Amino acid sequence: MNYLNKKTIEDIDVAGKKVLVRCDFNVPLADGVITDDKRIRESIRTIQYLVDHGAAVILCSHLGRPKDEESKKACTLAPVAKRLGELMGREVQFTTDIIGDEAHAKAAALKSGEILVIENVRFFKEETKNDPEFAKALASLADIYVNDAFGTAHRAHASTAGVADYLPAVCGYLIQKEITIMGGALADPKRPFVAILGGAKVSDKIGVITNLIDKVDTLIIGGAMAYTFSLAKGGAVGDSKVEEDKVDLAKEILDKAAAKGIKFLLPLDTVAADAFDPNANIKLFEAGTIEDGWQGLDIGPKTQELFADAVKNAGTVVWNGPMGVSEWDRFAAGTIAVAKAIAESNAISIIGGGDSAAAIEKLGFADKMTHISTGGGASLEFLEGLELPGIACLNDKD
Ligand code: ADP
Ligand code: MG
Repeated sequence: MNYLNKKTIEDIDVAGKKVLVRCDFNVPLADGVITDDKRIRESIRTIQYLVDHGAAVILCSHLGRPKDEESKKACTLAPVAKRLGELMGREVQFTTDIIGDEAHAKAAALKSGEILVIENVRFFKEETKNDPEFAKALASLADIYVNDAFGTAHRAHASTAGVADYLPAVCGYLIQKEITIMGGALADPKRPFVAILGGAKVSDKIGVITNLIDKVDTLIIGGAMAYTFSLAKGGAVGDSKVEEDKVDLAKEILDKAAAKGIKFLLPLDTVAADAFDPNANIKLFEAGTIEDGWQGLDIGPKTQELFADAVKNAGTVVWNGPMGVSEWDRFAAGTIAVAKAIAESNAISIIGGGDSAAAIEKLGFADKMTHISTGGGASLEFLEGLELPGIACLNDKD
């Protein structure tokens, strides 16, 4: 799926217009206090551009999973509006209304350069159902729609896609970055193009593998996924995590990679543990020789070297899924080694996937990567080549 031709906020005239922006303000909260305001900080560039160019800016988002009245209280966007105001150093209005009279009155009174946050769109069940009446009511607050919430771009909801039926629709800077970097790499990668896939399950990544196998020069498999492939090659995997029902599929993938003549790298050695426990005993095995009672939790040193070497001269690296249980220090070495190799290469480096992004940040490599995708599920679906309704709905450049 290629969205390189989508209009952005820079392609339209926003002066004097009311602009409805779908943000990703789905921030973590503890007792009403924002514990990480990264998503708010990241949203500012788009909002600032609109304010600077004379738009009256109406912001909407979802936050958490509000169900009943009690959970709604914990999912209000009021603290987000307050924090945004602090971060931007300007007044940010807030209304507890969404599509009612108060929201309309406040939106109507909003002047150029002013900002209004409306309440959590998921307070209406019509939001996730992409109800056309609800979408129309949201759209009636504004003259232009901007989607900048990449994290929900894989969902066709009223505020992420439905509104675009009623307004001119363009993307903000966050979605634009995903389109140009991730979309650009998938459409026309600088070669050699290396994909590194890891994480917990083959079944989670099948879509990504089948999409990327047609595009890459090298496919690297690490993480727990590697043991299903090892089994497919007749190896002994001990008590490692495997998906027995995916062994045939793993064989098919191995055959396809061979037929295509792409480089397909699997681990040469494995750091195994005698329990799924951060303090378990550790033993190193050659791939395919893991004894019973031991489970592979990270790639071994020879594999680190093999994978690092494959990355060294890459033009583009797409990475999804840690090489081992990187949440635990003793099983993070493989993930660190690969991150370091990417950081030291000149490749365009793109990280997709929630746990992968978290691992890269925690291990301190975030600023060394070209792009860390901001949406977990959305970036996976992008890598799978699936349509993202929140981007597909936006207007194309003339
Ligand atoms: P992402 O969210 O980036 O798509 P995944 O959710 O697929 O990544 O995978 C991340 C999870 O995979 C982590 O919780 C990690 O502990 C787990 N994992 C990686 N390697 C192994 C392994 N060898 N055994 C068990 N779990 C693993
Ligand atoms: Mg995950």
